[in-house]
Amino acid sequence: MIQVLHISAECYPAAKTGGLADVVGSLPKYFTKAGMLTAAILPKYDLKWIRNREWITVYEGTLWMNWRQIHFRVQQEAGNTQGYPMFVVDLPGLYDRPGIYNDPDGRPYGDEVQRYIAFQQAVLEWLLSFPWHDRPRVLHCHDHHTALIPWMVKYCPAYQQLAPIPTVFTIHNGQYQGMFGWSNGDYLPPYEASAKWLLDWNGIINPMATAIKTAWAVTTVSESYLYELHQNSLGLESLLRQEWRKEAGIVNGIDAQVWDPATDPMIVQRLENEDIAGFKFRNKAALCEWFGFPLEWPLISFIGRIVSEKGADLLPDTYRRFIQNGGRASFLVLGTGEAWTQNEFRRMAYDYGGRFNAVIDYNEALSHQIYAGSDFLIMPSRVEPCGLNQMYAMRYGTIPIVRSIGGLKDTVPDIGEPDGSGRGIRFNQFSIEDAYHALYRAVSMWHNEPGIVDWLRKKIMAVDFSWEHTIEQYIAVYRRIGANIAPETFVEQTEEPAPLPPAEPTLPRPAKTRKASKPKAKK
Ligand code: ADP
Repeated sequence: MIQVLHISAECYPAAKTGGLADVVGSLPKYFTKAGMLTAAILPKYDLKWIRNREWITVYEGTLWMNWRQIHFRVQQEAGNTQGYPMFVVDLPGLYDRPGIYNDPDGRPYGDEVQRYIAFQQAVLEWLLSFPWHDRPRVLHCHDHHTALIPWMVKYCPAYQQLAPIPTVFTIHNGQYQGMFGWSNGDYLPPYEASAKWLLDWNGIINPMATAIKTAWAVTTVSESYLYELHQNSLGLESLLRQEWRKEAGIVNGIDAQVWDPATDPMIVQRLENEDIAGFKFRNKAALCEWFGFPLEWPLISFIGRIVSEKGADLLPDTYRRFIQNGGRASFLVLGTGEAWTQNEFRRMAYDYGGRFNAVIDYNEALSHQIYAGSDFLIMPSRVEPCGLNQMYAMRYGTIPIVRSIGGLKDTVPDIGEPDGSGRGIRFNQFSIEDAYHALYRAVSMWHNEPGIVDWLRKKIMAVDFSWEHTIEQYIAVYRRIGANIAPETFVEQTEEPAPLPPAEPTLPRPAKTRKASKPKAKK
């Protein structure tokens, strides 16, 4: 029996644009490994990985959207190659496209409202077909694309049979709330009139606000990010503060199987016999050869979406100043995003050949090589809910240079901390001066204190960021809202079908919530 069903627009390796996919692709794997069968369901996009798999149809159904009848299929990946059941919803006409949110030219598809509502309804229609005792014990919804589910199961008569199932909503990115006008309200399935106010936030339908109001528990992907959302979340501050009792911040884990320097098939040199220096040297040498950088200077990289959230626009001027002042370092960028910053990077690659280069692309394999072969990874984010890059970097012995924000604050203590907990270099203000100073500290350390660099690499590579630690915190959240989550062996011992959780959520106790959500990695 599926104990937890993760419902998401992305899931690695089927469909990924960022950290959401990594999390949804690895949480079920680690839960299932721990004996709690957990599945993920996402839309069936026309993407390479999905096309190359065999899918078995497990359900066919129909849903109504306004006047339109939509046929759909739910399919399961044959062979469960990811270590857990992965399902896709095949919604012809809505998702069989070559992009997740945008077409290959980067233009949004424009019919997001219909797409997300249809996906959510299809998942619920499928769940209705389960015998009641075989239904998942938790519906775990991720980000605004699935944020209406907690409301639908409570207030749409068609789905109210599912209302006893506790719902958890995780905010991976509070910047995107999925808002749409009331003129699109007709796409929603029929709902109780009294539930209309739960959809509304400041005069429009705001799915993220609806989930915060109606989910049994709300989590964010780091404790600091939860606190920051209470201060600034594009209008949701008061709501998040009001609902604080059901909230928790849980730092993401990483998939230690995919991100393993000893077995990673995407890198030139794997880690052998604990030879960190050899591992770093050979991987860096490959990058330096490809991009024409000097081996004897530190290589500082950036990987990520080139958007204001990630602070990529701070880099061109900071790097220019650093290079023009004679700083001895090379810089590499991998990412796609806003045209202005991309063009700045292209121009700098031309101006500073041999010192700076940028690959304006999404390239999973190259990202692995950059994590393995760089000396430092910079993350100057304006907002960073959790951030996975710094954890991947540390696992591959690359020292993070981060702005003190969100999950970066929770996972990267500065090496200047007197308690010796340091793992990288931090800066506070989003300014060229602060970023420049952080670069200066990194580069000075590299040239003047190679012993510290070696010591730090060894230390950060040993940090355990894997999900095995994090899933305990999710289990605590599930149990606090009454979900009967337990390893399968325990379930099999009971003769009776597992009892369903109570119809009303038990409110979490605030003090415990905070304690349970404290990231272990911080210690
Ligand atoms: P986001 O806010 O984008 O989700 P995260 O740090 O949580 O940020 O996750 C980013 C993930 O996307 C990481 O796995 C990172 O390696 C990957 N990534 C981002 N941009 C690229 C790119 N251009 N090529 C390859 N991987 C990328």
